[in-house]
Amino acid sequence: MARPDELQPHGAPCGARTRSGGTCGHAPMVGQRRCRFHGGASPQARRAAKHRIERARVSAALGRLGVAVEGTADPLEVLAHALSVANGDLHTMQGMVANVEPTSASDPTVRLYAETLDRASRLAKIAADTNLAERMATVAEADAVALHAALERAMTFVGLALDDREPLMHALAVELRRPVLQLQAGAAA
Ligand SMILES: [Zn+2]
Repeated sequence: MARPDELQPHGAPCGARTRSGGTCGHAPMVGQRRCRFHGGASPQARRAAKHRIERARVSAALGRLGVAVEGTADPLEVLAHALSVANGDLHTMQGMVANVEPTSASDPTVRLYAETLDRASRLAKIAADTNLAERMATVAEADAVALHAALERAMTFVGLALDDREPLMHALAVELRRPVLQLQAGAAA
């Protein structure tokens, strides 16, 4: 999978063969190898470039979380898998922290839970930032429900009052549902 720096290879020109027999020296369009005069402006090329740029961005964001996108793997599928694993971890951790007294916030289990929660929410953020296909929106929605429950529990542990919690929970729910709602609105239009 191309990285962002490979999408614009240090000003390498388009390079298409010209009618005069030379090679085109125009800058390629963003996310592409060809310029606007050599296929870069076509709807297919623009769509492909958009997908490449989005995948490169997801790949970079996953990389910052230590998730490698190997070889020709689709970063969106890697993201979906990482989200699913993080959700599984969250459910497991929820079962574990349920047996911990809420007063022991320094308990290693609670700390691990907080780290798991942080990772899951970062992955959910990448998913929410990405204009994903519908299958991914479903994953994001399932994730939002799990995150909502998980964050509520986490806030109980750090002793946040219910009055403080509710606006945050509401804002989070709205934010996490945003990509799903946009897709639904798009489908209805
Ligand atoms: Zn060109």
